[in-house]
Amino acid sequence: MALSGIQLFKQLPKTNCKDCGYPTCMAFALQVAAGKAAIAGCPHLAGEVLATLSAVTAKPIVRVEFGPAGNAVVLGEETVLYRHEKRFEHVPALAILLDDRLGDEEFSAALDSFNALEFERVGEMLRPQLIAVSSADAGRLTARAAAASRDTKSGVIIVSDDPGALRAAGEKIKSARPLLCGASAETFDDVRQVAADLGTAFVVSGGNMQELGNFGQRAVDGGVSQMIFEPQVTTAADALAAQVYLRRAAIRDKKKEFGFPTCAFACGVAAEPMLQTMIASALIAKYAGIVVVDTLDPAHILALLTLAQGLYTDPQKPMMVDAGVYPVGNPGANSPVLLTTNFSLTYYTVMGEIENSKIPAWLLVMDVEGQSVLTAWAAGKFVADAIAPFVKKSGIEENVDHRRLIIPGYVASMGPELESELDGWQVVAGVREAADLPRYLRNLAHPKA
Ligand code: SF4
Repeated sequence: MALSGIQLFKQLPKTNCKDCGYPTCMAFALQVAAGKAAIAGCPHLAGEVLATLSAVTAKPIVRVEFGPAGNAVVLGEETVLYRHEKRFEHVPALAILLDDRLGDEEFSAALDSFNALEFERVGEMLRPQLIAVSSADAGRLTARAAAASRDTKSGVIIVSDDPGALRAAGEKIKSARPLLCGASAETFDDVRQVAADLGTAFVVSGGNMQELGNFGQRAVDGGVSQMIFEPQVTTAADALAAQVYLRRAAIRDKKKEFGFPTCAFACGVAAEPMLQTMIASALIAKYAGIVVVDTLDPAHILALLTLAQGLYTDPQKPMMVDAGVYPVGNPGANSPVLLTTNFSLTYYTVMGEIENSKIPAWLLVMDVEGQSVLTAWAAGKFVADAIAPFVKKSGIEENVDHRRLIIPGYVASMGPELESELDGWQVVAGVREAADLPRYLRNLAHPKA
């Protein structure tokens, strides 16, 4: 049963020595209770107390980490079945499988295509984190793992059912901590040993939940934590069912033998790229730690990355940017002034469309605790008597000679009241949808006769 901060505090040395990095034992206890620090962070706990506290504060799914320094992939540590209960912890890693169907030149070109899969969205750079390489030929597997690691600097999954081939390829890129994928009932101990020797993690495949549970129990008994489950399935329904079963078993039923992150080969269930992407979407939502596809189509990859980004934001933390005056495209004293809220998605969408217009402008971003325009308006945060003092204090009056404020079209009804609050300013209702901003701004700059 989870302990409260006070219950944890009672077990701590209470010396406030700060060796854990927190100013007091109470501060440390509260962080541990909130799942933001590990009990092992206090170096003054030992023996039975440490063992007991470690057991009661352990996450139901272990943390697994692999990949090169600077591009490491972290999985596990999930504590809830549903995002709204708290949050999902680690964004699923998207992997692109490059296998023997590719000749050497195609493989090289695929690495270039992989490197080009980078997208900026809501202020974050999104990209697939992993390349998975597989080959029936051990020499080719080693060469391709080395090339993938060298040319992409990303994490590499080495896929083979031969422990000797995994060792040879893994040793070649040992410093990049590749994920070894291919342990089965016959090779479990061998692959586990290779992973231990290389200081990395491994994937074990099982045809049913009982088999995976047996692997999990062997890992728990042997003190192995750096392991990932791969349910072997042939249909989308079974793929989803397996992921849900494993997450429920670990979190709801508290079965330690199922407390490992998972990997799912969407490309093993469907070959057609659109269908594969749809299946991968379901697996991102529930609950794969790694989702493997074999398409390099940017449209499909962006859809998957966007989904993962949205699902793995923390619902307890509003996504917001700093309030202030943002110049877009070197604006001057006569450039238009637009107003919006500091919800990240709103800000980046509006900013992007102003940039698309090629019309320099000033964007006033008001702090409404990260809410969108209509939500903030409905909550009484984006209303005339709050906006007026914000505009006055923002400093925009020193940047422009005119006094014309463009507000979002959805809150046009507040225009007259805002105009009476904002002494000397004319308030104009702009467009409702950000997508209409380029046309609106161009018309404003170059009005038709
Ligand atoms: Fe307290 Fe341990 Fe942190 Fe020292 S290291 S302040 S004893 S919790």
